[in-house]
Amino acid sequence: MASSALFTLENPTEEHHMLRQMVRGFTRDVVEPQAEEFNRRAEFNRALFKQCAELGLLGLTVPAEDGGAGMDLLGAVLVHHELSRSDPGFTLGYLAHAILFVNNFYHAANAEQRARFLPGVLDGTRIGCMGMTEPGVGTDVMGMGTTAVRDGSDYVLNGQKALITNAPEADIFLIYAKLDGRMTTFVLERDFEGLSTPGKTPKMGMRASSLGEVIMENCRVPAANLLGEEGGGLVHMMRNLEAERLTLSAMSLGIADRCIEIMIQYAHERQAFGRSITQLGQIQRYIAESYAQTEAARALIYTVARDCGPGKRNRIGTDAAKLFAAPVGKQVADNAMQVLGGWGYCDEFKVERFLRDAKLLEIGGGTLEAHQKNLTKDLVKARAQ
Ligand SMILES: Cc1cc2nc3c(=O)[nH]c(=O)nc-3n(C[C@H](O)[C@H](O)[C@H](O)COP(=O)(O)OP(=O)(O)OC[C@H]3O[C@@H](n4cnc5c(N)ncnc54)[C@H](O)[C@@H]3O)c2cc1C
Repeated sequence: MASSALFTLENPTEEHHMLRQMVRGFTRDVVEPQAEEFNRRAEFNRALFKQCAELGLLGLTVPAEDGGAGMDLLGAVLVHHELSRSDPGFTLGYLAHAILFVNNFYHAANAEQRARFLPGVLDGTRIGCMGMTEPGVGTDVMGMGTTAVRDGSDYVLNGQKALITNAPEADIFLIYAKLDGRMTTFVLERDFEGLSTPGKTPKMGMRASSLGEVIMENCRVPAANLLGEEGGGLVHMMRNLEAERLTLSAMSLGIADRCIEIMIQYAHERQAFGRSITQLGQIQRYIAESYAQTEAARALIYTVARDCGPGKRNRIGTDAAKLFAAPVGKQVADNAMQVLGGWGYCDEFKVERFLRDAKLLEIGGGTLEAHQKNLTKDLVKARAQ
């Protein structure tokens, strides 16, 4: 892995600088050496996840007084960016835990729930996931069919979630269900009767994280595991989707950075017709355009990250960041493959893995079409204000 001295650095404070140095060193020395093997085996590296806990990365956005690292959303962006330079697959499993579960949970939970659940998810003993998508409902999330009914001191949940990252190995689940038609958030635990996660869903990329279903059949959830208020789920979901979209954008950026490094190194060394292929105009176009697009994505993502957080909603910015960055990540990985020719298509230079991983970011956490829809709606609304 090169030093990435090629790229603009976005470290607004000394704390961000130190966090980047730490995660960059960890990625180079620990994440990179295991990436090929775990992606080939299609397994989530639980030992690596534990090491993330030791570095304080699992509670990155949780305030220090509650046991977290007390970083802002820009810190979370930075971590996902750096980790994805080596292993986007593992990073997706990390994101499902640290952002989709921990960050979401923290801002919705009361003091008793924080005291009960945070220690296990911050020290890596318990893996978390978030269930929003269902077999028949993704973008149209308000149409979800999972229901919750109050029964004495419990709620009873019925329904099915699908395409859930970490579901096969998760110990703790943040689940959205409809209670009297209103979106409500619950914490489910692995040993709850009526909860099951059958099998693993095989997929094209992001193979170092697992994907699966969560089935709830008359699953009894104690009232103490209701997060926030009945009907509060929509606010939790929308607030956390902004953090999700920014960190997913940062993953596209990590992929693009790495693919640029690989293509420059390869093109510099590869000879064709008696000269380096960097002398060929068409190769120059792949390299130069990849670089310009990646720097533009970087500027947008980090600018939005400065202006977004639990107390500062920014749906327009986060939709725009992911709408722009996801195709850049995929295009740059594809450009790298083209520059490497047949070698790019083979495993050795890693770009085929990055290209497969990059495609997910045009779908997960909101499809490109969903971002176009949201942005247009919000811009029209903003114009009238
Ligand atoms: C690897 C992976 C990991 C995931 N992890 C999680 C997770 O941890 N938790 C979770 O809850 N979900 C997760 N998902 C689900 C993901 O968020 C959904 O796949 C995504 O939101 C799209 O939903 P869908 O697949 O049902 O597609 P659909 O919503 O059915 O969309 C199908 C097509 O129709 C288009 N479309 C739909 N509605 C509109 C519209 N109004 N205007 C224009 N076009 C439209 C879409 O853009 C798409 O092209 C994951 C998915 C994958 C593949």
